[in-house]
Amino acid sequence: MNTRLYLSTDANLRKLAAILTNGDLVAVPTETVYGLAADALNEEACRKIFTAKNRPTEDPLIVHIHDIEQAKSLAHWNETAGILADSFWPGPLTLILRKKPIVPDIITAGLDSVALRMPRHRDFLSLLKIVNTPLAAPSANPFGYISPTTSGHVMDHLGGKIPAILEGGPSDIGVESSIVDIRDEHHPKLLRPGGISQQRLSKVLSCSVDRYQPKISEDEAAIAPGLLKRHYSPATPVQLHLSFPGEKSVRQAWVFFSTGDSNLDHQDNFFTLSADGTGESAAKRLFALLRNLDGKHFDCINVERVPIDDPWAEAINDRLQRAAAR
Ligand code: AMP
Ligand code: MG
Repeated sequence: MNTRLYLSTDANLRKLAAILTNGDLVAVPTETVYGLAADALNEEACRKIFTAKNRPTEDPLIVHIHDIEQAKSLAHWNETAGILADSFWPGPLTLILRKKPIVPDIITAGLDSVALRMPRHRDFLSLLKIVNTPLAAPSANPFGYISPTTSGHVMDHLGGKIPAILEGGPSDIGVESSIVDIRDEHHPKLLRPGGISQQRLSKVLSCSVDRYQPKISEDEAAIAPGLLKRHYSPATPVQLHLSFPGEKSVRQAWVFFSTGDSNLDHQDNFFTLSADGTGESAAKRLFALLRNLDGKHFDCINVERVPIDDPWAEAINDRLQRAAAR
């Protein structure tokens, strides 16, 4: 199959909408990472996502919508959903709600809940409006590998397997959405840290939003499926450090969170994640840097943790921890 790259013109968006309506896949830019989209109400089309990504069907998909009415047609809405949508949609926040029967089981892995997000990327939102059906879209990478933040990353691994990619520039945020389970609207739980921090969620809801920690008695897979210990992983082993040892092997890559030391730039195996010392810029660069280093045949990629007082620390350290898991 020939994979075509489409610039975001009106005519191209209409062509891509037709591909989706026909039950085929389109890779799309979002502000978090690039996604692989299919008509969420077409079970056969959604099945193609799992085949292209080699993703197990136990791992449910996030459904993208362009307005609240569309969200309400798919899920039982509640007051907490209204507050969070008002505050953070369109944006990097995914809400878990009780699903309505119209949502196919392939999307939800058979659960009684569905994950919904209104994305902020202008071109993806335009496409959602033109196609006028909800679009299921997980990250556009082979299952378990590093998420793509450019159209080139998508082409590298899915080129030849999908008909189309919409070019939308590098992803603005760079890590996946935060996922909050609000089926019980009085006890929101953060299933995955991401573009919206726990503090911001707690603040608008005026209650604590705790990170979901499975109890021993609980079936974790039934509440947070797909949150695998190992994920976002390069083929090269990754090691996470609070601080680096003095002695650094030249056969290994060393990724500093941030440093003003310009000597580092002259070392072929030293890298910095954040040019300006903020987690926000580290998030933007994280996946592209890991992909790049994975191609350089180092024995190991060592990465310094993001300092915990940074608002992005939870999301980035979560991805790094999973990348480093064996
Ligand atoms: P991604 O692969 O980044 O699109 O993220 C999809 C993830 O969203 C899955 O791996 C799950 O962790 C989460 N998810 C999707 N649907 C549900 C659901 N109904 N309940 C809980 N988590 C979900
Ligand atoms: Mg993914």
